[in-house]
Amino acid sequence: MLQAANIIGSLVRSLPDSWVFSKSFRYAKRISESFESVLDKKDYVCSYQEKILKDIFTLATKTIYYREYNFELGIETLPFIQKETIVSNFNDFIITTNKADLVSTGGTSGKPLVFYIDKLRKGFEWYWMTSNWSNVDFDLHKSYRAVLRNHNLENKLYKRNSLLKEIQFNNFCLSDEYLDYIINFIAINKIPYVHAYPSAACQLAHRALQSGRVLPDLKSFLCGSETIYKHQKDTIQNLLGKRMYTWYGHSEKLILAGEGRKCEYYHHNPFYGFAELVNQHGDVIRNPGEIGELVGTGFINTKMPFIRYKTGDFAEFVGNECPVCGHIGLTFKNVRGRWSGERIIKNNGDYVTTTSLNLHNDIYKHINGFQYVQNVKGIVEIRVIPADSWNLEIANRLVSDLEAKVGHELKFICKEVTELEFAKNRKYKLLVQNIEE
Ligand SMILES: [Zn+2]
Repeated sequence: MLQAANIIGSLVRSLPDSWVFSKSFRYAKRISESFESVLDKKDYVCSYQEKILKDIFTLATKTIYYREYNFELGIETLPFIQKETIVSNFNDFIITTNKADLVSTGGTSGKPLVFYIDKLRKGFEWYWMTSNWSNVDFDLHKSYRAVLRNHNLENKLYKRNSLLKEIQFNNFCLSDEYLDYIINFIAINKIPYVHAYPSAACQLAHRALQSGRVLPDLKSFLCGSETIYKHQKDTIQNLLGKRMYTWYGHSEKLILAGEGRKCEYYHHNPFYGFAELVNQHGDVIRNPGEIGELVGTGFINTKMPFIRYKTGDFAEFVGNECPVCGHIGLTFKNVRGRWSGERIIKNNGDYVTTTSLNLHNDIYKHINGFQYVQNVKGIVEIRVIPADSWNLEIANRLVSDLEAKVGHELKFICKEVTELEFAKNRKYKLLVQNIEE
């Protein structure tokens, strides 16, 4: 039965989107439409970025932190800031707190980052996010989503949000019975999109494969907000045969980069912020294949601007334009969180990253989830949620394949479990690293 709030939500949704989603939604829509209409798109992007950066710099000079900055020589001459810079100079970054929200990024360890950002950001964000999703034919006016993210619904099986056209499910207790319930719900109601943390999407896909209900009406998974691993794409795209559409974004709202219609690289949206990839010397990367840190200057935040903010996330440079689909803007792949979180320490103190441990594709048929846990140097526990076809022979093969890859300085032990370890906000990490560096 619809609740009162949802009846209002449904009524509101019958109004045009540009009215429902505020001034900033209309602003983003206008940019997008005028970009579509011009012939020289590269020139449009360059002039737009130049103009907005100038505006941001002018605003920034009103803060204590930036007032001494020389913005004349261009963005590449400006120093970097990072989370610690904001944490220790919080008040010096503030322009105003009027019409601002105070938000906090939920770090899994250490002090969280707290900052002010425009209340109006939501419409802007929603426009560009859904415009990414339109690459998998998502229709803002019609498409419903089954959502498996950070909603903890206590005793409810689901919650409907008619305004955003979403059915939220509880991602905090994904038992087989509950997954079956969600799969049935999606099938009966012909819900075309599952908007989920990649780990939850993967659990759902495994269950669908196992139970043989492979969701014929589902068009695509929409996955972001966690590191995306190759094994998850393999499961969803190769085994289940559905598109796993992914994007890179973060709570600071400086960079938003989605996959293309066919192309699976990340394409930064040049109207959302200014994005750079920089190497360890602080130089901007211009060579394909080079790996560096994502650095962002946001266009949304006029209350507390972040200029050349080091995100702590790393990626491989593909181009300033996409060589495959022609997107104009920073194009990258293989996004990884801070390297330390992905490092497995060998007996001799060297390390390997989890990226180098790609497993054979056929192993995923036999497991419903896995995770590496390291408590001791030189030893890695592989926690596996077994599927029905899992057996000792497969377990031994998994261990020997991995050991053959990394040499004898690292031993693997396979352990069957019923659940993996998640952070408090229900985010998944491929490696739980318990060795302090
Ligand atoms: Zn592309």
